[in-house]
Amino acid sequence: MPSRSPRSSSPRSRPAAPSRASRSNRPAAAAKGPARRPAPAKAPKPSRPARTPAPQPAPPAPIAERLARVRTELRTRKLDGYLVQSPLEQRWLTGFTGEDGAVLLTADRTLLLTDGRFDQTADREAPWATKVLRASRGPETTAEWFGKLRLKRVGFDPAHVTVSTFAGLSKAARGTKLESATGIIAALRECKDTGEIANILAAVRVAQGAFERVLKLIKIGMREREIAAYLDFVMRDLGADGAAFEPIVAVGANAALPHHRPGDQRVESGQVLLMDFGARVRGYVSDLTRIVWIGNPPDVLERAYRCVRAAREKAVEAVRPGASAGALDRLARDVIRRAGFEKQFNHSLGHGIGLAVHEAPSLRKTSTEKLGPGMIVTIEPGVYLPGIGGIRLEDDVLVTERGHEVLSSLPLEFRIQ
Ligand code: ZN
Ligand code: ZN
Repeated sequence: MPSRSPRSSSPRSRPAAPSRASRSNRPAAAAKGPARRPAPAKAPKPSRPARTPAPQPAPPAPIAERLARVRTELRTRKLDGYLVQSPLEQRWLTGFTGEDGAVLLTADRTLLLTDGRFDQTADREAPWATKVLRASRGPETTAEWFGKLRLKRVGFDPAHVTVSTFAGLSKAARGTKLESATGIIAALRECKDTGEIANILAAVRVAQGAFERVLKLIKIGMREREIAAYLDFVMRDLGADGAAFEPIVAVGANAALPHHRPGDQRVESGQVLLMDFGARVRGYVSDLTRIVWIGNPPDVLERAYRCVRAAREKAVEAVRPGASAGALDRLARDVIRRAGFEKQFNHSLGHGIGLAVHEAPSLRKTSTEKLGPGMIVTIEPGVYLPGIGGIRLEDDVLVTERGHEVLSSLPLEFRIQ
């Protein structure tokens, strides 16, 4: 799925404050002691928090590593606490998948603030954290803990906190200064660990398996929305949590719209069919695009295809540690320019994928960021010809220690008669 053209640098995430049901009959805010579960078999030796009254199990190794890295960043920024409001970042940091919560991280404590709906989820997914069940969705409980832990400077990511949440919390938190600390977790999320890479690879495989199965079902006369529904269904059937995003299925002139929403257009001979799809597996996504020729489409589309394929090859070959994200975009754009289609490539070359479909790094021409091992980025050059159709090829590419590995393995083009 293409991301916005010149500067889509912020990772996509859900809003910080989804609406929720009334909880009037819930008891007052209460910090519960940590659940006493045995530590996972492979967990490292527990480092016991200084203020914890009872022994806590240790977080699993990848989570312990992430907590340590965020704490290092907090020390650098001279913050004694960090409030994580984005559900996606909470998941990355703690493994907690509840949709409504917050994580308060200090030098020696990890507090998971949520409510009764996610009580058991918290016990199951983050038994090592100190669970706090909030009585209301107001800022009181969070502010109360700022006081209990004597926190002077608490950081937060302004990308995930609404103005009203910030105002409420600032007012309630007397003695604690809230400080804007942009992108701490977004930056750390860029390089994936082995577990994350395995999840993304699984998401790639599920998406590819679904594509191959659905391809066999596609017939002349089938509507875009039917194909999209099949893709959704088969990805789930093959083990996905669901689709990573609403699949883009575009026939003919609709393929000239990079973010077309599948509708009633039917597959017709002499057209191109573009499919952009991805699966979500254990929270992590894949994002692929392939084209299917239906009979013999116009020559100009075949020319566009050859140019996109050459741009893809050039960019993929250049993916390695130290490569500049901006240079990769320019490399692909140059190939497309030389073929005379420069103005028809109207989005950036690619983006990082992980828990979010669009996350850092952004492969746009103005980027100065350098790629590093563990990053997984899409390479997705495209050419869009209004009224005729569009071509995009999208693959998911892992930056390795010495070069790259293309995680996706589908052939680049398909044809049905
Ligand atoms: Zn895509
Ligand atoms: Zn994409």
